[in-house]
Amino acid sequence: MRVLLVEDDPALCDFLVRVIQEAAWAVDPVVDGRGALAAMAGTDYDLVVLDLGLPDMDGLELCRRLRERGDRTPVLILTARQAVNDRVRGLDVGADDYLPKPFEISELMARLRALARRPPAVLGPVLQLRDLRLDPSSHVVERDGAPIVLTAREFALLEYLLRHPRVVVSRGQILEHVWDDNFDPVANAVDVLVGRVRRKVDREGLVPLLHTVRGVGYVLAERPPAGHAR
Ligand code: CA
Repeated sequence: MRVLLVEDDPALCDFLVRVIQEAAWAVDPVVDGRGALAAMAGTDYDLVVLDLGLPDMDGLELCRRLRERGDRTPVLILTARQAVNDRVRGLDVGADDYLPKPFEISELMARLRALARRPPAVLGPVLQLRDLRLDPSSHVVERDGAPIVLTAREFALLEYLLRHPRVVVSRGQILEHVWDDNFDPVANAVDVLVGRVRRKVDREGLVPLLHTVRGVGYVLAERPPAGHAR
């Protein structure tokens, strides 16, 4: 494994180099976007660890340029920015994962190992579970190869669930992530919305993916959670 580390903070950079070397991976540190592009022109890296705040260009811009020229090297973004918007933008420009600072080294390494394991076919910003695919940048949704037309809020719900596959999410979490603070949804808004998405996603003859966990919430998964009816 060979890792390109793009980080302009000297102390953090030195520290990360040591940590990555301890995992028995080769690592080349660079301090800016120009250095990263030059390094990647000459070397075929297995992973890129990318700081967003660089002196010469935004890390998002760098990531976008890499993807534009067809480079599919897995990119993990490091950033002090906590905003959901930045995270979404990072994934939209083709980053594969995102880790807010400060982070635990054990989590960074676990995420790098996970990225290193991923086959090239599943890399990229398209979210997928079984035969359900959602492209966050083009807003195209497909199930079993057939397009699914969703309203903006239905899309937001499905994207949220696809970003948390096989995790039971509560109605409160859905309310928080799918509606903004300016909108006061009616009491059963989540259930109504889930029902609409389910009718579109789990068409007759397809394996049901959107399951109800009674008294808790919902889960998007290949099979219903044990002990719970749909
Ligand atoms: Ca920085």
